[in-house]
Amino acid sequence: MAIVVQKYGGTSVGDVERMKRVADRVSRTHRDGNQTVVVVSAMGGTTDDLVGMASAISDAPPQRELDILVSSGERISMSLLAMALAERGVQAKSFTGSQAGIITDESHGKARIVDLTPGRVQEALDEGNVVIVAGFQGVSAKTKDITTLGRGGSDTTAVALAAALEADVCEIYTDVDGVFTADPRIVPDAQKLDTVSYEEMLELAAQGAKVLQVRSVEFGRNHGVRIHVRSSFSYRAGTWVGPQEDKVEDAIISGVAHDTSEAKLTIQHVPDEVGVASKLFAALADANINVDMIVQNVSQKGATDISCTVPRGEVDKATQVLEPLAKQIGAGDVVLDPEIAKVALVGAGMKTHPGVAAKMFTALSDAGVNIQMISTSTIRVSVVVDADQVEQAVRAVHEAFDLGESAVEQGAS
Ligand code: ADP
Ligand code: ASP
Ligand code: MG
Repeated sequence: MAIVVQKYGGTSVGDVERMKRVADRVSRTHRDGNQTVVVVSAMGGTTDDLVGMASAISDAPPQRELDILVSSGERISMSLLAMALAERGVQAKSFTGSQAGIITDESHGKARIVDLTPGRVQEALDEGNVVIVAGFQGVSAKTKDITTLGRGGSDTTAVALAAALEADVCEIYTDVDGVFTADPRIVPDAQKLDTVSYEEMLELAAQGAKVLQVRSVEFGRNHGVRIHVRSSFSYRAGTWVGPQEDKVEDAIISGVAHDTSEAKLTIQHVPDEVGVASKLFAALADANINVDMIVQNVSQKGATDISCTVPRGEVDKATQVLEPLAKQIGAGDVVLDPEIAKVALVGAGMKTHPGVAAKMFTALSDAGVNIQMISTSTIRVSVVVDADQVEQAVRAVHEAFDLGESAVEQGAS
């Protein structure tokens, strides 16, 4: 019997009618003879509403309580889906993340899964149930408190469960047909990719393509889980995420990602001495702040500016860490720019093709977009631009590399 893990995102379970349609699809998978595990997100907008209520009560709600609150959205979905399946004569049992054996560290709001003990899930499957698991949550091994895995975390619940259960496939059902060459909401002629490698998907997700949470792709790659991203509104094939060998075509570029959730911090006049950068970034790491891009200018008169990007939600914490430290090491002010966006071009083929960065920068300059920061990996070029130019920048880069649907059709004729 095949084991199938299916994850349904917020839009797919957005209201009672959609929940019923999900129940139809799940029943069909179960009746086709598969052992079926379903991971559900909160109904669309619920997590935002819960976070909004917490912020209306407190500027800094206790993280433990915030996690208990936001994890409740997924519990609503899991129980409603179990009821809808019962209504269809399908035996189903729902479990919270903790009941499903999802063990995490104690980092509230962005916990990492450290162990998975799906004994109850396996038992319930063996008894012939469809098993429903609340996405996005686990329990800390140390504190025994409920934790959440960060926004978009239900993807990670699903892929981690698929890895632990050695599932044949992990299907991620969402509101678009698969992974596209850019966010189809911003680039209307973006194309669906039939396949994408783990490495490229990791870069796309890390650079903001929110169709998969980055940690879910890490799990997929580390455990060889075949991930199929597809629409819950159709039966069309979506995008397969897997090893590089599985790719059907070897395009130079896979896509363009963008991210408006980060802010830029600049520490001015940092003394150009051994060990200074290590002090600054060790302090941010100790405070559990994820730093993304880092740029250090050439030093002039023994001092230099260092800029980095951090998640907007962690800017206050980062500033509190950096300001006293900057004083202590004899640096200047810590300056914040929240109005930035990252735009990244990703593709395994760029390793062997020179001139990709130059072409991207030319496209941005032709579109009148100023580049503030640049960082690269072997398969990615990322830039930081003004937040209000992000859509323009994404479209310009997408077009320069002929990634659009119309570009392909023209090429073919
Ligand atoms: P879900 O609620 O199903 O988890 P998300 O909103 O988290 O869905 O992710 C799906 C959304 O990701 C799409 O609606 C789309 O706007 C956005 N997205 C961003 N980049 C991409 C991309 N490259 N391919 C597909 N979708 C993308
Ligand atoms: N409900 C959570 C969120 O909105 C988790 C998820 O949907 O994956 O981020
Ligand atoms: Mg999501």
